[in-house]
Amino acid sequence: MFEHVKIPQGDLIEQRDGSLVVGANPIVGLLRGDGIGVDITPVMQRVVAAAVKQAYDGVREISWAPIYVGLEGVQRYGEVLPEEAIAAIRHFKVAIKGPFTTPIGEETHVCLHCSHQQNSGPPCAACGKSDGVTPRFRSVNVGLRQAMDLYACIRPVRYFEGVPAPNKYADKVDFVIFRENTEDVYAGHDFEAGGEVALAIIALIKEMTGRTIRADSGIGVKPISRTGTRRLVRRAIAWALEHGHKSVTLVHKGNIMKFTEGSFAAWGYELAREEFGGRTVSEKRLWDELDGVVPEGCVVIKDRIADSIFQQIQTRPDEYGVLALPNLNGDYLSDAAIALVGGLGLGPGANIGDEVALFEATHGTAPRYTGQNKVNPGSMILSSVLMLQHMGWTEAADLILGGLAGAIAEGHVTYDLARLMRREGRAGVQEVSCSGFGDAIIERM
Ligand code: NAD
Repeated sequence: MFEHVKIPQGDLIEQRDGSLVVGANPIVGLLRGDGIGVDITPVMQRVVAAAVKQAYDGVREISWAPIYVGLEGVQRYGEVLPEEAIAAIRHFKVAIKGPFTTPIGEETHVCLHCSHQQNSGPPCAACGKSDGVTPRFRSVNVGLRQAMDLYACIRPVRYFEGVPAPNKYADKVDFVIFRENTEDVYAGHDFEAGGEVALAIIALIKEMTGRTIRADSGIGVKPISRTGTRRLVRRAIAWALEHGHKSVTLVHKGNIMKFTEGSFAAWGYELAREEFGGRTVSEKRLWDELDGVVPEGCVVIKDRIADSIFQQIQTRPDEYGVLALPNLNGDYLSDAAIALVGGLGLGPGANIGDEVALFEATHGTAPRYTGQNKVNPGSMILSSVLMLQHMGWTEAADLILGGLAGAIAEGHVTYDLARLMRREGRAGVQEVSCSGFGDAIIERM
């Protein structure tokens, strides 16, 4: 069926009537990632295997199907994002990925071994290798999201006891951010100043509205649709109900942009009313009609202006559960929220569409640490927790969460956290390797 992807023995995950059907031996796609993907991905696999074995007495087991993208894609297909990889992810429906190199700057070529960029083909002038040097390309991550319409970018953010965090209320943080992945600035409608399209849009706006835009302006178009908003908010509300969050907050700049940002909030409330009427209550109704008493089993739907939410998550984090945002503000808020609880190393992520769910480490390829068995595999491991929850294997997910929380609380951590803990004067910190952190988690499951 595929040229390079081997389908292992196991059960194909299926979608029936909108639900996932997962056998005892499901096949899950595995995209190793560039750079430190070689370090963190095998550790994640080992931790997942141990948790699944322990949770289900060896009755269940994941069959991993390697899918080749990034450096591995170039080595096998001569392409960073081969068609076959996308077809394979679609076939397996659930996959997990490490980080992938994205070229920045203007050079014509990039080396996927070490991220060096140069204006010539192979070999790489920095690491000397030839099989990873490829012409510059657009982001693999964006390519994957667009190819499979993975419209919801999900970023859970929570505190783990023992992690040095800059905010004194960090222990109250337990958010899940739903960021729209296909519209707003990510739609990529960005037109150069003086170009034909920018000038035509400026002229059209003048003609239709009488408003003037400087002729030397670059023009970006920021579409936010009812369709795109509703499918995102639908997932956010379903998540809140399933995971016991008290509220879903629609975050927007509707005070400035009524018909994009403002409509995001309006369409979100509309969807909540239409599809989750009995199980949601708007904040307005809560205070106008219900005296602030949330009916049993209901999630409160509220909205906040984007700039205020950056203050609110710092000063009153316990008032927020699920947050739903258009693309750009979701991008900012995800990173700000992760910083609140101590940094990017531990942030997990998922990109979800109607057919496929792709779980991912949220940090980059950290090329200078590649192959050193040094970096923190926490983001990838926590992404596997999300994946197991998505598959309904919550017992295994809980074992990993418990093991990871235990390892951190006892100070058995990789260099990045060890450094921060020591700086805080914490005693008894034991710095472990990337695989050693996996062992520490498994020992504490
Ligand atoms: P990066 O996340 O790779 O590194 C930023 C800093 O964090 C570095 O100091 C790095 O050593 C450290 N770091 C990253 N992951 C770590 C981990 N697991 N444990 C401990 N320390 C860790 O970001 P960057 O340097 O801006 O980007 C490097 C490459 O990764 C670029 O090509 C970039 O485009 C790509 N990238 C990919 C993704 C993704 O695939 N999701 C995300 C961000 C960046």
